[in-house]
Amino acid sequence: MTALTATYVGRFAPSPTGPLHAGSLVAALASWLDARAHGGQWQVRIEDVDTPRCIPGATEHILLQLAACELHSDGPILYQSARGAHYQAALDSLVAQGLAYPCACSRKEIESAQSQQPARHTAAVYPGTCLPAPYGPGLQGKPARAWRLNIRAVQQLKSLPTLTEWGDEALGPQQQNVAQEVGDFVLRRADGLWAYQLAVVVDDALQGVTHVVRGADLSDNTARQILLQLALGLPTPHYRHTPLVFAADGEKLSKQNGAQALDVSQPLSALNAAAAHLGLPAQSGTPRQALSAWTMLWHRI
Ligand SMILES: [Zn+2]
Repeated sequence: MTALTATYVGRFAPSPTGPLHAGSLVAALASWLDARAHGGQWQVRIEDVDTPRCIPGATEHILLQLAACELHSDGPILYQSARGAHYQAALDSLVAQGLAYPCACSRKEIESAQSQQPARHTAAVYPGTCLPAPYGPGLQGKPARAWRLNIRAVQQLKSLPTLTEWGDEALGPQQQNVAQEVGDFVLRRADGLWAYQLAVVVDDALQGVTHVVRGADLSDNTARQILLQLALGLPTPHYRHTPLVFAADGEKLSKQNGAQALDVSQPLSALNAAAAHLGLPAQSGTPRQALSAWTMLWHRI
C-alpha cells in the first residue's frame, strides 16, 4: 500500500445493480493501472445511493470479481449508502449560499414542458419552473419534492462562464452548456434519495480523489460534477474516460441491457480481454505479473 501522502488518488466506483461485466472490468483496470503507473492509491467505492436499483449480493459479487483479478482497494471500501450525513451537509451548504432550491414538479410535468425529448439524457431538461426569485416564481405554495442546483446562481456567484470547459486526458478538450443541455439538475430526489451527481462529487472530494478514470458513458456527467465542485468550493480532479465495450449488436455493454456477468474463473483471460481494449498486449503468467507488466507500459499507450 502506498503512503497516505500520495499525490495521486484514483478510484473505481461501481454501482451494485449487478455483477461486473466485460466493460466494467475495462474501467476498473484502466483506473487501477493509471493509479499504479503514477505511484498512487486506488480506492473502491460502492455507489449504492440508488437503493431501489441495488441488487442484494451484487456488492459481494463485484468485490469477488475484483479480487480474482488481483484488483484490491487501498484502504477500506466506501459505501455511499452510509454517507447521507455528508451529502446533507453539502446540500445545506448549497442552500445557505442560495445555490440550491426546492422543486415541486413531477416527472410528468417536466416532460410535458418539453418541446422534444432529449436523446442523450435519461431525464428531460428541467425548464426551471420552480426557480426562486429573482430567477423565477418559486414554489407558489406547492409542496417541495426535490432539491435542484441553481446553475445560473452558481455561475453568477462564482463568476463562471455559461460554457463549462475542461480537458479530458483521453478525449481532449470538452465543453457543455449545462444550463441549456441538462438544466438545473437534481441534488436530492423526490423520493428522498441522494442524487448520483452530489454523492460522487462529495465522495471524490472527501476521499481526496485526484484522478477520475471511468468509462466514456459517464463522460456526460463531468460538466455537472465540475459545477458542483465549484459551487461547494471543492477541487476538480483530472478526468480520463476510457473507451466503451460494445456488444455484437453495437449496443454498449451495460447491466441495463443485460450484459453478461464477467467470468473470472480464468482471471488472466478476463484481464487480457480488458487490456486488449485499452491497447495493451496480452500477457502470460499470473494476473499479478500481467498487471505489473501493463503498469510499465501504461504511460506509452
Ligand atoms: Zn420544479
